[in-house]
Amino acid sequence: MSTRPAVLGPAAALFPPRAERERLDDWLTRALPRANERIAAGPVVPSIDFAAFRAELAGFDFREPRPIEEVLDWSITRIERGVVHMTHPRYFGLFNPAPTFPAQCADRVVGALNPQLATWTTSPVAVEIEAHVMRVLARRAGLPEGSVGHFTSGGSEANFTATLCALTRANPRFAVDGARAFTGPPVMYVSRESHLAWLKIAHESGIGRAGVRLVATDGTGRLDARALAERIAADRAEGCVPALIAATAGTTNAGMIDPLLACAEIARAEGLWYHVDAAWGGALIVCDDLKQALAGMDAADSITIDAHKWFATTMGAGMFLTRHPVVLSSTFHVSTTFMPSEYENLDPYVVTAQWSRRFIGLRLFVSLATAGWSGYSDHVRRSIQLIALLRGELAERGWRIANDSPLGVLCVEPPAGRDDVRSIAKRVLASGRAWVAPAKFEGRDIVRICVTHGEATAADIAELVATLETHSRTT
Ligand SMILES: *Cc1c(COP(=O)(O)O)cnc(C)c1O
Repeated sequence: MSTRPAVLGPAAALFPPRAERERLDDWLTRALPRANERIAAGPVVPSIDFAAFRAELAGFDFREPRPIEEVLDWSITRIERGVVHMTHPRYFGLFNPAPTFPAQCADRVVGALNPQLATWTTSPVAVEIEAHVMRVLARRAGLPEGSVGHFTSGGSEANFTATLCALTRANPRFAVDGARAFTGPPVMYVSRESHLAWLKIAHESGIGRAGVRLVATDGTGRLDARALAERIAADRAEGCVPALIAATAGTTNAGMIDPLLACAEIARAEGLWYHVDAAWGGALIVCDDLKQALAGMDAADSITIDAHKWFATTMGAGMFLTRHPVVLSSTFHVSTTFMPSEYENLDPYVVTAQWSRRFIGLRLFVSLATAGWSGYSDHVRRSIQLIALLRGELAERGWRIANDSPLGVLCVEPPAGRDDVRSIAKRVLASGRAWVAPAKFEGRDIVRICVTHGEATAADIAELVATLETHSRTT
């Protein structure tokens, strides 16, 4: 007689019964908004005692299980005092948003149901929701019918995807032979104000960091189109193989938009892939009038827009859009016996850099569906209005405005006789009242201020002005 082997019941801490889950979910639902309220009333930068924190952390040796409330409460309260707060209304930061509430809800849904988006067969509804959002955004960005796209971990992965597509189209042997396939070193063009992830991307894609041409800017933070054309000609003369021009629509430092039409024209004449990195600035497509600033983006072969920047979804949500679905699938194509792809253009794992894949896009879908274009347009406009208010207040007090961007970011130099930019930024951060960044723009030291919080108010701007005025004086 055979005996069945004994099997343990579910690990109770990992898979508690429903009543327990509901109780904890309710507790979290109440705890989190309150934590964010305390954050908004406190310092924007970390205030935790790090020695004490590290000692506590070392105490987690994972030998004795602890109650989940205790561990979650510990995590929330330590994060509350231990990070720069993106959800603080005076985080005038690096585009990292206070996430929209619909995006947070969507993240919860995705976390609970956890679909795997590698293939259409496994998650047809989820894959089609993402593909729908992409088609609509691609049209809104000016790309033609038939354009496609997918969600990425962020703008860097989207720009990486553009680079691989450019190299694959430039030489179909690239997929097999790598950079050796080219008759000379492949090179790509970005401006020197572009996002420096391009250097890592060049490394990752195998063309090497030396293959990145940091083209001169025109003195106002925009790529100099004539310098671009000259550099391409010089590279060709030396036997290099130009493959990609990546214009930036909204530079990270100063929100400047490269001459998109001129770059498109050069790329067309030279037969190069034309990518527009609109990681942050791309959100202007939600505003019918303001999107004029992106004229020329519609000529792009591909576009990067981050959902986790001005679209204010939770972190880890970028987007890659392209008018060339065939190039995308020839770049990422694989066939496996364990996962035969029957849906070549729908199966994310054969048209993207990732394999196992989170349902990233639900956050933007739910946010767009609940706010509509008009809700998003108000969100974008509000940030630009607050920056205009700040520009006026600071200019009145003798601060020099260094950038001329149509987006919600301001670069300023302190009035003569004040302290240097680094010391000012350091003291502003130490005060805990606001977060701003010291940066360089066209060779000058500037304070960089971006309105990233959808609920920041005129009072927050007034507090920032007062903080900058106080902490820029040396005495
Ligand atoms: C933020 C940014 C990136 C990088 O995007 P991640 O989402 O941080 O990976 C690339 N380009 C520009 C212009 C950016 O602003």
